Amino acid sequence: MIDLHTHSTFSDGSDRPAELARRAHEIGLRAIALTDHDTTASHDEMAEACADLHLEYVTGVEVSLRDNAFPQVHRDSGLGPRNVHVLAYFVPLDPEHPLQRALASLRHDRDVRNEALVALLVDQGFNRLTLDYLADIAGNVHSIGRPHFARAMFELHPEIVGPRHDETWSRVFTEWLGATGRAYVPKTSMPVEEFVAAARGSGAVLSIAHPLDNYLDGASNAALETTMAPVLASLRERGFVGVEAYYGSWSAATRARMVKVTRDAGMIPTGGSDYHGHYKENVRLGVGLTGDLRVPDEVLDELRAAHER
Ligand code: AMP
Ligand code: ZN
Ligand code: FE
Ligand code: FE
Repeated sequence: MIDLHTHSTFSDGSDRPAELARRAHEIGLRAIALTDHDTTASHDEMAEACADLHLEYVTGVEVSLRDNAFPQVHRDSGLGPRNVHVLAYFVPLDPEHPLQRALASLRHDRDVRNEALVALLVDQGFNRLTLDYLADIAGNVHSIGRPHFARAMFELHPEIVGPRHDETWSRVFTEWLGATGRAYVPKTSMPVEEFVAAARGSGAVLSIAHPLDNYLDGASNAALETTMAPVLASLRERGFVGVEAYYGSWSAATRARMVKVTRDAGMIPTGGSDYHGHYKENVRLGVGLTGDLRVPDEVLDELRAAHER
């Protein structure tokens, strides 16, 4: 069993890398990829912790990008850009590498978004919210993400958002921070193609993260095959190797259907829990939200073969 989608304190997870490695070892994972948002800064700490535990470690990252090939229908404003999440594995660490430069540019976009989001929320009544407060709970001003905003909104303004529990936590995203919310600020306009170009020749292997969340637009799962087949064909054409078919927040039946469309597209089904510690309370390392996720070891062998090609 492996887990190729996890977050640490270097982005919006609540476990330090060493804690994550310890937990992975405890549940018997053979390998783990740390996929913090926009950064591989956790590498040294995670590599050391995994080496101590004889746990195989893959350097990963998760980024948000624009997929302009599949514009999205927005309820009020018609066709607009589509934001998608992309996972990269075997990321080169040289800060001068074009892929690391692309990550630095995405971190800059995140910083700019975070400042705008604070201003917008303050305007809408969250007047105790500050970037300092967020940096304090995130541990670093550059790791701040929307889960930190949600946490700060509960801690500073319960009179607006109510007490924190699962349902109010989701509501903060639908009403405020999510794409349909009153305080939504897009993070970046970097197109998928720019990131793929930066990764070219580096050995990095790209997989589209939780693709149903990115491309299904709330349509029922009945449309899964017909919606995803052309999307995967297009992504493959544009340089993607993997598809996150084993995603830990989907049912076993949905995962099985995604594995099939992935194989039919000639791509590798990747997978993971999207573990965030207490920022995603019900998602468990390795086994996901449903508890029955098991990402097969062979997937990593296939990814490694793609990396070495
Ligand atoms: P950011 O990278 O700052 O745009 O934040 C994205 C992160 O916010 C995701 O990785 C999730 O951890 C979290 N997130 C996004 N949408 C939701 C949602 N509807 N419910 C809970 N968490 C969410
Ligand atoms: Zn996250
Ligand atoms: Fe994601
Ligand atoms: Fe994630």
